[in-house]
Amino acid sequence: MQIQAIRERLLGLGAQPEHAQRVLRDWIQCAPHDRGRRRPDDYLPKPVREALPALDLELDGLARVLSEHPGADGSARLLVGLVDGQTVESVLLPREGVCVSSQVGCAVGCRFCMTGQGGLLRQVTSGEIVAQVVLARRRRPVKKVVFMGMGEPAHNLDNVMEAIELLGVEAGISHKNLVFSTVGDARVFERLPAGRVKPALALSLHTTKPELRAELLPRAPRIDPRELVEEGERYARLTCYPIQYQWTLLEGVNDGADEMDAVVELLRGKYAVLNIIPYNANDGLPFTRPSWDKARALAADLQRRGVLTKLRDSAGQDVDGGCGQLRARALDGGTR
Ligand code: SF4
Repeated sequence: MQIQAIRERLLGLGAQPEHAQRVLRDWIQCAPHDRGRRRPDDYLPKPVREALPALDLELDGLARVLSEHPGADGSARLLVGLVDGQTVESVLLPREGVCVSSQVGCAVGCRFCMTGQGGLLRQVTSGEIVAQVVLARRRRPVKKVVFMGMGEPAHNLDNVMEAIELLGVEAGISHKNLVFSTVGDARVFERLPAGRVKPALALSLHTTKPELRAELLPRAPRIDPRELVEEGERYARLTCYPIQYQWTLLEGVNDGADEMDAVVELLRGKYAVLNIIPYNANDGLPFTRPSWDKARALAADLQRRGVLTKLRDSAGQDVDGGCGQLRARALDGGTR
């Protein structure tokens, strides 16, 4: 179910655009038992009021938590069931954030990602994206939404932008706390600057070498890392929020001195933060997690050389932390 389809349904029942907006806002902001608009003296037109209980059930049924896996770091991974039986993962992050999925599976096929191994099964609708935030809000306050779960948001741009607009306008989430994460796609650099809500941008860099990038991200657009950074810089200057460059650190692959020198050349002086994320080991994938001490030393060195660098661990390390692992395990015969 798409947000626009919900709006059109309500308009078809005689609702004004602001009525439709209010129904959507109440869905995001109010617990089901606390949706005050349903009072008989409510100002919504009668046909809309009469349709609301069924619509409520539909909206609340868009996504449900099948299992919840708390991590030692304060995060919790949710395996989320959709109406057609497909599943995606959401992660409740420490410090009032949630990471949502934008696709069931993913076509980019990054070699170090479990989600990428199975290909794309289907798009997640804008309603299902917002529903993941609604589920998270029923568990914790949510002030930040990052589109870093399963899927490549640039491959589902209409749904993701529709969800971002609703969350930015009606959920009280500041626009810089909506984080669109992508491997880099020309359509992103056209659409995001034109949106009513301009999210922050995270760009998957992972290497400075075009040929290694093509190997690690086999079906990502062939964009030179240098060009990616130029596009990112333009967007950062437009929005006044720094670009978050993502670097999954793979032992012996992209952690050498040559890469670090090239990172300094590429990012020094840019309006940017480099997030170094030591790879989270996956059964069956041919990569190794570097030691924390090594990652810390690399991050400190980059910082010293003028690149604002943060060392991060993927949330829920101890609960099948990589994106897609929980779902893979569930499909394999049951979650822990
Ligand atoms: Fe897709 Fe992201 Fe996994 Fe790459 S890392 S395959 S873009 S979900």
